Amino acid sequence: MNADVKTAGEAAANEAGRDFIRDIVQADSDAGRVKEVVTRFPPEPNGYLHIGHAKSIILNFGVAQEFGGHCNLRFDDTNPTREEQEYIDAIQRDVRWLGFDWGKNLFHASDYFERLYGWAEDLIRAGKAYVDDQTHEQIRANRGTLTEPGKNSPFRERSVEENLDLFRRMRAGEFPNGARVLRAKIDMASGNINMRDPVLYRILHASHPRTGTAWKIYPSYDFAHGQSDAIEGITHSLCTLEFEDHRPLYDWCLDNLNVPSRPRQYEFARLNLTYTVLSKRVLTTLVRDGHVTGWDDPRMPTIAGLRRRGVPAAAIRDFVKRIGVAKANSLVDVGMFEFSVREALNKSALRRMAVLKPLKVVIENYPEGQVEELDAVNHPDDLTAGTRKIKFSRELLIEQDDFMESPPKKFFRLAPGAEVRLRYAYFITCREVNKNAAGEVVELRCTYDPATKGGNAPDGRKVKGTIHWLSAAHAVPAEARLYNPLFTKPDPSGGENFIADLNPNSLEILDARVEPALADAQVEKPVQFERNGYFCLDRDATKDKLVCNRTIGLRDTWAKEKANP
Ligand code: ATP
Ligand code: MG
Repeated sequence: MNADVKTAGEAAANEAGRDFIRDIVQADSDAGRVKEVVTRFPPEPNGYLHIGHAKSIILNFGVAQEFGGHCNLRFDDTNPTREEQEYIDAIQRDVRWLGFDWGKNLFHASDYFERLYGWAEDLIRAGKAYVDDQTHEQIRANRGTLTEPGKNSPFRERSVEENLDLFRRMRAGEFPNGARVLRAKIDMASGNINMRDPVLYRILHASHPRTGTAWKIYPSYDFAHGQSDAIEGITHSLCTLEFEDHRPLYDWCLDNLNVPSRPRQYEFARLNLTYTVLSKRVLTTLVRDGHVTGWDDPRMPTIAGLRRRGVPAAAIRDFVKRIGVAKANSLVDVGMFEFSVREALNKSALRRMAVLKPLKVVIENYPEGQVEELDAVNHPDDLTAGTRKIKFSRELLIEQDDFMESPPKKFFRLAPGAEVRLRYAYFITCREVNKNAAGEVVELRCTYDPATKGGNAPDGRKVKGTIHWLSAAHAVPAEARLYNPLFTKPDPSGGENFIADLNPNSLEILDARVEPALADAQVEKPVQFERNGYFCLDRDATKDKLVCNRTIGLRDTWAKEKANP
């Protein structure tokens, strides 16, 4: 995938703290073209934020911070049919959690409805906008194509007086949805379809979360965005590449209106990740149709989903820094994101023992009823994290995968007659294998060597394998939720067929056993289950039933599985 080449280059460029956006901002500052750098993050509150939005947030807040300016959080709430308070709250929570603070700079495009309306009347008075009575379909049919010019509307030459009268009556609510629109009068033959008399206002009888039913007409994105930027004194309006073709219209509006400042729009590549869909439309469908449990399902690429899964904000920031900001679209390997997650967790996560698929082990020569406490290290690279006591007894649990009845040569774990080290405890040797009627191994009878306490043999004999374990009587049951990618294809179709690309095995639930210490863990703060990966307590956990999410495996087991299915 050539995305790898590109991301490596971007990472290098970013090491120097540079990208083409920062170069532009630097040049504008140096030349005195801007006094204070002001950026904005402008989400539409019609869904939860995802990791692609994180790229935009980190860029906008980051640039403002680096140049001593500020970044506004602006809700682009111009379409009341799709927007909800739940989304407004979630967006604020997620931006804060990512580590950014907009201070008092919280704005809404809806705060500017009156001023935007006034500017629309100004355009009409200047002969640069008109009310069109064509239907939605007629407007579309007359817009032309990439190779053919559009046709002028029969209503294009209306007088200023008639236009003003109709537009005011649109505002007053005299006409039903879709009856009329206000269009800019630019050029129906323009090579850029966005310039062929774009729609500035449409009639919409709908209740808005902030303005209620005060408005019967709503501005288009193109009419609201640039003017909102100008009102807020935005100097650099950073958006994704799909807006490049809208820039002439952005500039046209600002150049033809008496606005208080003159922002500039710059476009950068949106984030695309393998095995991931970052389209709000698709994510909304996944939630609405129950393919996931909600916006914060840990399989979702949403900020809320990643947080619930245990991904630290620092890992997201690190990832965004590594991929950098470029001008050309690319597809980033999700492995790069997982690398950042492991990097962050390896440093921060305390070590614990858990057995995901338990197999019972009885130590025959260990006295019945005896329990001893052993010391276990909380973090191998951070001794200040201290140690904890773990209990050892006659009945233990080990991982089913750590035993094989007829092992291949390089299997250094447990097998009939083989000796293995139990982490922080003793060497044990397997003496007998008990099976059920179905022929499955259900119990191992072993012996331990009391002289090997702590993991070393006084006679110097070596064992190659070390496995984790739990004392059966002291282990706590926990539902372990293992997550795999939501999609089976590296580039899932964002189109109509994305359901066909959904991974039927994206969630695997195991009846695991964990150290009692896990019950005191914090929700969303991962620990490392030794040899099993990073896990965090889920908010579904109760006193009676622990539930933990696998944030991520220790290495990329998924890639391996794909290579050798
Ligand atoms: P839609 O417009 O289809 O509802 P959207 O993802 O563009 O979806 P917005 O709320 O408009 O949602 O996005 C807010 C900001 O985040 C925009 O400036 C947009 O360019 C940016 N953004 C959205 N998706 C990505 C992405 N994948 N990578 C980087 N930036 C993104
Ligand atoms: Mg958008």
